[in-house]
Amino acid sequence: MEGFNPDHIEVRSAHFIGGRYVEGGASALDVSRPSDGKIYAGVPVADAGLVDQAVQGSWHAFKTSDWAGCAPRERARILRRWADLIDADVTTLARLEAVGSTRPVKDAASWDVPFTADGIRFFAEWADKIGGDVAPTRGDHLGMTLAEPYGVIGAIAPWNLPLVMASWKVAPALAAGNAVVLKPSEMTPFSVLRMAELAIAAGMPEGIFNIVQGDGRVTGDALCRHPRVSKVSFTGSTRTGAAIMAACAESGTKPVTLELGGKSPQVVFADVPDLEKTVRTIARAITINAGQVCVAGSRLVVQRAIAGRFIERLAAVFAELKAGNTWDAGTSLSPIISMREMERIDGIVQRTVAGGARVAAGGQRIAMGNDGAFYQPTILTDVSGDMEAVKNEIFGPVITVQVFDDEDEALALADHADYGLAAGIHTADIGRALRVARGIEAGTVWINRYGRSADYVIPTGGYKRSGIGKDLGRQAYEANLHFKSVLVDFAR
Ligand code: NAD
Repeated sequence: MEGFNPDHIEVRSAHFIGGRYVEGGASALDVSRPSDGKIYAGVPVADAGLVDQAVQGSWHAFKTSDWAGCAPRERARILRRWADLIDADVTTLARLEAVGSTRPVKDAASWDVPFTADGIRFFAEWADKIGGDVAPTRGDHLGMTLAEPYGVIGAIAPWNLPLVMASWKVAPALAAGNAVVLKPSEMTPFSVLRMAELAIAAGMPEGIFNIVQGDGRVTGDALCRHPRVSKVSFTGSTRTGAAIMAACAESGTKPVTLELGGKSPQVVFADVPDLEKTVRTIARAITINAGQVCVAGSRLVVQRAIAGRFIERLAAVFAELKAGNTWDAGTSLSPIISMREMERIDGIVQRTVAGGARVAAGGQRIAMGNDGAFYQPTILTDVSGDMEAVKNEIFGPVITVQVFDDEDEALALADHADYGLAAGIHTADIGRALRVARGIEAGTVWINRYGRSADYVIPTGGYKRSGIGKDLGRQAYEANLHFKSVLVDFAR
């Protein structure tokens, strides 16, 4: 997709409740473009009253529309039509996504938008697949489990992939017959509004999919605590996930799905058949979206025999990346979401270097002559497990390097005390790959590749403090249902 002029993009600064745009809120927040720091819009902050209006309306639509009660094929048909409208709207959606986020427009057009549409199609196909079971009971009894939607699901999304992350929460919940109130990140609030408009155009009943804008402290917290919200599905940081879990516990022991942070290892053995290909896989895993992805492969654990050459090649591939505005077609290195985040990333790098680490590439901000926040892809060597850059999620284009001699040492280094979101293993030895895959405590392990290539079938989710429950896959669909047991006694 070609570049575009960001000043020509107009956004609706509103909530989306009951099938229409709704203005208002206690206050407003500035929304800026990470590429140049320019404030281009404001977004309202829904207070508890507005959140109540959205949730009550959503509950009413759940009870009175035929969304939950219609033939599931009908629900699936509307969802598929929605996906088709999203695909057809790719230019508008990709520009809306790119202008105020870290997503380059060509990536938004070739990946985010189609992946969002295909995810909706994937969950649409589950709508008539799981209805419950007949349970084995005495001969004169009939036991059944009935799969039922929860009612209103509260969905809270992060800023890093605004459309895709929101759709992973929203699509399975809607396919299962629930109504949804989504709160996007206050930093990237606009593209999902267009998605909601298209849902109505596809025939979804008004009030089934709603959006409330605002920050976490006011709007997000009110959504979690609302008594009519039956379940909360969240993607974001581990710290916020814990706060949401506490709010849900305090306000009615509500179930939660939490997709949280990570510090994922990339284990590279010396026998990789194509070193250059592995280097490029690892470079991409830490620089895509400038490392601002939950599964960023942020810890390279490499066997000693190839470590020197590997680091050299990795630095060379990093140097090929071109930092630029998200609205320029040639951009291959995204901005950091805000100057504050960029300074946080730099702080971790500088403190780790002061503690004895060596910079093998990058290590500084990229100045663009404006207020755009960019950071050089960075390699830190000579690190140990107790250093900040190795322990903490950086959420930027920074990879640390630890060297091992044998498989046991590789496994020990790959393990992280807190996080267990994903891992990569790169080796020609299939037995070793499977042994290490078994040994690593992580929710997803990729062997000789890294990252998801539009595979919705395989669920994603974390071990340890990286999360609870799954997005994608059958598991995500089932997580949006609860199961009622019915036992009938038909003995004479
Ligand atoms: P964040 O936790 O700061 O915010 C996420 C969302 O939660 C935002 O919409 C925010 O407004 C809201 N929020 C904040 N405080 C809240 C509260 N007390 N109650 C209710 N809502 C609240 O995360 P972020 O900075 O937007 O995203 C980056 C983080 O997300 C990283 O840690 C990353 O690893 C994680 N992430 C995880 C996955 C995954 O699938 N595991 C995917 C993407 C991002």
